[in-house]
Amino acid sequence: MRAELEILLRLQEIDQEIKKLESDKAQAPARLNVLKNNLASKDVDLQQITGRLSEIKKRRVDIEDELEIENIRLGKSQQKLTSIKTNREYQALLKEIEEIKKANKSREDEIVAVMEEADAIENDIKSKQAEIDSLQKEIDIEETHLARMEEELNSGLSALAGQRQAIAKDARQDLLSRYQFLRDKRGGIAIVSVTNAVCNGCNMNIPPQLFNELLRDEKVHYCPICQRLIYTEKNTENNGEGAC
Ligand SMILES: [Zn+2]
Repeated sequence: MRAELEILLRLQEIDQEIKKLESDKAQAPARLNVLKNNLASKDVDLQQITGRLSEIKKRRVDIEDELEIENIRLGKSQQKLTSIKTNREYQALLKEIEEIKKANKSREDEIVAVMEEADAIENDIKSKQAEIDSLQKEIDIEETHLARMEEELNSGLSALAGQRQAIAKDARQDLLSRYQFLRDKRGGIAIVSVTNAVCNGCNMNIPPQLFNELLRDEKVHYCPICQRLIYTEKNTENNGEGAC
């Protein structure tokens, strides 16, 4: 292979490694993002149930206040019973007393229900908070891990950039520009081998005349179909094939 192509081939290997590390770097925060989304959704749940708990507590205070007022009214009505003159009035007051008692009983039942719900919610809050704490710990660990991984990837990338620069300075400038143009247009692969007159970049046959010239290795050639830089190894089955 021609020396100027060997340089580009080494460059291509380094560029492939750079591409791999950059893709690793882009994907590195994926797990952390999943954990953070999970935490955000648990925080929303916790806020909702905490909101429900304060509604319930407020409701309990309201019913207890009503109950206190109604118990005072009940006491007054019971006292009034002793001073009633007519049977009709007496019956009416008895009915009113019964109604107050009935309403108060249902208030007491509601207080019990509200207290039970508050207990259940408090337990739920405790378990949600424990999940959040453990998730937060996981996030802290993942952040440390990610920072270390990014540091390693960055130092790998800067080492590769140094190697690339050292190699690129020996490259023929016109070929280097061509290489970089093709690399960006052809998925990172700008220089490919040709086996049995087939381009390994696009898998198409190259014309016999071009293949013969390629075997003579007198100048740099391009695949007529994908335009990549092409080369063929000496001492392989390619030798002599298609020769005039
Ligand atoms: Zn090709």
